Amino acid sequence: MSEKTPKKSQSVSKSKPRKKKFPRAKYTQDEMHEIFARFKLQRPEPKGELNHVNPYTLVVAVSLSAQATDVGVNKATKALFQVADTPQKMLALGEEKVRDYIKTIGLYRNKAKNVILLSQKLIDDFDSVVPMEREALMTLPGVGRKTANVVMSMAFNIPTMAVDTHVFRIGHRMGMAPGKTPDDVEDILMKRIPEEYLFHAHHWLILHGRYTCKARKPECEACIVADLCKSKEKTCDVPATIVRLED
Ligand code: SF4
Repeated sequence: MSEKTPKKSQSVSKSKPRKKKFPRAKYTQDEMHEIFARFKLQRPEPKGELNHVNPYTLVVAVSLSAQATDVGVNKATKALFQVADTPQKMLALGEEKVRDYIKTIGLYRNKAKNVILLSQKLIDDFDSVVPMEREALMTLPGVGRKTANVVMSMAFNIPTMAVDTHVFRIGHRMGMAPGKTPDDVEDILMKRIPEEYLFHAHHWLILHGRYTCKARKPECEACIVADLCKSKEKTCDVPATIVRLED
């Protein structure tokens, strides 16, 4: 599984044009460029934190991660993926045993059911191969738009913007993408983030939200874009020194 920069020939998966009117951009393109250039300096190769061994286990891991932490999902899937890393092996294991493996994760009963259903559908409709297209991915039980976007990005190197709680919050707090729904936030970010940064932007925003621009209280003194941020909540105007991090 790679999370490399997409091939040049790969087209950028901009969202379908919707005829919605969004609030005017708060940031100029130069400012957007500067913000993401700094994220890139800080984390040149950001990675997702969900463990997986192939596109199939990635689909399973992401579908298990709703309302659960990546750490919690990784703990449960470590043993599960050792015995079931293909749709066939998962079906052979059966719903009851899948449930046992993942019972430390919230909503595990429903999630175990969906893991079996999506494995069956992959076998029946996709020759056991995880599809690359969003619409096809979203036909799998338990796979919504966010999960499909994560899979497209992490498994197939297609730039997408999966809007989770961190991305949604930052979009609003910084005023970068104040859309009403996750889909709106996705559309705005896909439109306004400079194309050269789109591939990693999802992970940069998640990590920025998880470790710096935190939900309860943003740590503006530790923020590398504090001078550029236009949030009313910010408590500091001086950007923190950029220290290169591994992920
Ligand atoms: S300055 Fe504060 S509010 Fe703005 S992005 Fe940084 S941490 Fe978030």
